[in-house]
Amino acid sequence: MHTLRFVTTNPGKVREAEQYLEDIYTVEQFDYDYTEVQSDSLDTIAARGAREAYDAQDADVPVIVDDAGLFVRALDGFPGPYSAYVEDTLGVERVWNLAESLENRRSAFRCVVAFTDGDTTETFSGAVQGRLVAPRGDGGFGYDPIFEHDGQTFAEMDTAEKNALSHRGRALAKLADWLVERER
Ligand code: IMP
Repeated sequence: MHTLRFVTTNPGKVREAEQYLEDIYTVEQFDYDYTEVQSDSLDTIAARGAREAYDAQDADVPVIVDDAGLFVRALDGFPGPYSAYVEDTLGVERVWNLAESLENRRSAFRCVVAFTDGDTTETFSGAVQGRLVAPRGDGGFGYDPIFEHDGQTFAEMDTAEKNALSHRGRALAKLADWLVERER
């Protein structure tokens, strides 16, 4: 079986990718800190990161990079690609304090997974709709406690439940379909 490297510091993301890709690739974690270019597009950030990581490794193994964010509809998609900066600067409680004053709290998580094998670079996107609520639940990470989907926050779901409907899961499922097609 061929190997694919997931460029991330988060082993949880590697396990999630394995669920989708295990019939096609052995997924390895590649702990490489790529430069996050400043861009309004998750596609651009992920694709550039994948190409940089591919060039930085000592082998010719395909790599994937994911880039995700929380897009608040009433704020024209903010924080979007700046979600990590906003989470690090404010923390999720204060993001909720700001969101509380909004009449419409509908939001989406979006994720782009970029794949490159050196020759071909492709991006795959996934989204999940929800709304911002006061923090609930102890599971998950990042904005999970304030993101509610179908009556439950992502932090109240177990990992399998969240992965089955998450933005990242949807993008990984598209990548898996594309890889299967390509192998034919
Ligand atoms: P990254 O692209 O995975 O680094 O994520 C960018 C930002 O979005 C970080 O602040 C993450 O905590 C947040 N984020 C990404 N995916 C999720 C998720 O599934 N749940 C909650 N927050 C997320």
